[in-house]
Amino acid sequence: MARYWETGTFSQPSAEELQAKAYASVESAKKKGRLYDPVQPRTARGEICTTWWGQSWCRNLERYADYESRLDRGKRYLRTGTVIDLQIEKGKVEARVQGSRKTPYKVQIRISPLPESRCQEIMSRCSERIENLEDLARGEFPEALKDIFLAEDGFFPQPREISFDCSCPDWAVMCKHVAAVMYGIGVRLDENPFYFFLLRSIDPERLIAKTVDSKVESMLANADVKTDRVMDDSGLDLFGVL
Ligand SMILES: [Zn+2]
Repeated sequence: MARYWETGTFSQPSAEELQAKAYASVESAKKKGRLYDPVQPRTARGEICTTWWGQSWCRNLERYADYESRLDRGKRYLRTGTVIDLQIEKGKVEARVQGSRKTPYKVQIRISPLPESRCQEIMSRCSERIENLEDLARGEFPEALKDIFLAEDGFFPQPREISFDCSCPDWAVMCKHVAAVMYGIGVRLDENPFYFFLLRSIDPERLIAKTVDSKVESMLANADVKTDRVMDDSGLDLFGVL
């Protein structure tokens, strides 16, 4: 006896069909004056992200068993080019994902702000060296943040800090459209780590101000050292080894 899913009525569209629909949706939005910003991973297989922070975003998602069953499908969906728009705003992500229907699905993901004590931790690490801020401006996450980001209780959100919604009829805890957008966020982080601060509602200006203040402080401290050095120069005990 044939079951309904063997009749072909509910068969999944092929990658080519999805891509053609995605293209049509982007074009139709353009005609209405909306410019979509599609997500395309830079890798063809394996890891979706290329940077350590993008990869650890993905690994953070994969640690949670609740999401496990849908993540692989989400990854494939993203690679097919179905995430045709993804906008990161303070504490939330709005995206459009092309599915089997003509109209793309709307996905919204909300992420809780990072607790203040943890914000302070990032800020003090960043403010240790102005180079950390320069790394960020260049589109790289500072190495100084690596250990605190890779720790088990890291800075990426846990399931209880993430809520999501998709306009598709799938009743699963996490549909493949949401899963695709989750990986899409990793790709955006790969391109620009500043998105992390937006996602977790950390004001980048506060970060910059703290780093610059601390730089001024350390310059003043260095100036004091220099005064000592000058005094030492004139003395006998220059490096404490004579
Ligand atoms: Zn969905």
